[in-house]
Amino acid sequence: MLTLYLVVPCYNEEEIMECSARTLLNKMNELVENRLILEDSKIVFVNDGSKDKTFEILSSLCRNEDRCVLISFTKNFGHQNAILAGMMFSREFADAVITIDADLQQDIHAIGEFLSAYEKGCDVVYGVRKDRDSDGLFKKASANLFYGLMRLLGCDVLANSADYRLMSRKALETLSEYSEANLFLRGLIPLMGFRSDIVYFDVKPREGGKSKYSLKKMITLAIDGITSLSIKPIRFVTFLGLGMCLFAVFMIIFSIYTWVHEGAVPGYTTTVISTWLVGGAILLSEGIIGEYIGKMYFETKKRPRYIIDSVIYGGKKT
Ligand code: UDP
Ligand code: MG
Repeated sequence: MLTLYLVVPCYNEEEIMECSARTLLNKMNELVENRLILEDSKIVFVNDGSKDKTFEILSSLCRNEDRCVLISFTKNFGHQNAILAGMMFSREFADAVITIDADLQQDIHAIGEFLSAYEKGCDVVYGVRKDRDSDGLFKKASANLFYGLMRLLGCDVLANSADYRLMSRKALETLSEYSEANLFLRGLIPLMGFRSDIVYFDVKPREGGKSKYSLKKMITLAIDGITSLSIKPIRFVTFLGLGMCLFAVFMIIFSIYTWVHEGAVPGYTTTVISTWLVGGAILLSEGIIGEYIGKMYFETKKRPRYIIDSVIYGGKKT
């Protein structure tokens, strides 16, 4: 038997918060009754700077429920940081932590399987979605593109894994030693190399509210994921530059040859095409390199990854 903490990141989830919280509470009580987890197990909600009624709903719930804790950020720090804050808080009290989205799209019945994998000695248990049927065409296509690109770049990311996962206290202690600002947990955790297992779970459509992952947030997560795990894009830029230099040598020889043998070269089209092509390639390359320099800039600042405004714990406010 273990003390289990559930970590739930919440951002503008007023439509579903009450219902989700109740469902999770019932699930936890059921697990306690079935003697799968200990009585002191808790649910940690992390309010990621919601601008709607999420905080009010959660704070009134937490004041009445001993099993709930509410960590509230000063502003929106993003899904990954919300999960991290919840896990870092829980590692002092819990034997294991499971992170799960507030919209409960992820099937909570998988929690039992997570626990049995933990009992068998796994320190990390990854939740992997069985399919993407509940996703729209765009989300499906972008997810496939992202995981394909990650594979191409040699990053060890489990395809279709979600941030629905169990981590033992040992794994959380190790995670706490990673101080990177550029956080992509799905890529980072497999790098730690702990004994792990996979649990497949069903995904339901959202019951209320809209997805909080805007296109901008999705692109940011994808770029963070790639740049935090691989420097292959920079290497690609180097090879691209090298290839272009070789091509330039060929062009110089070719131009001198035609100049000597045929006089002035008409070549307007080639000039225009190559100007745009080379210009585009240079800008793209600079952008890729700039992306890494920008990341280094933020890493060197060592700013806090999130700022906690308040914690409501077992009816008390600190
Ligand atoms: N979330 C968050 N901060 C954000 C965006 C999302 O804490 O800036 C939470 C959100 O409340 C939810 C989870 O992260 O619990 C996953 O978000 P969502 O369900 O909107 O993403 P999707 O399932 O559409 O990928
Ligand atoms: Mg969701």
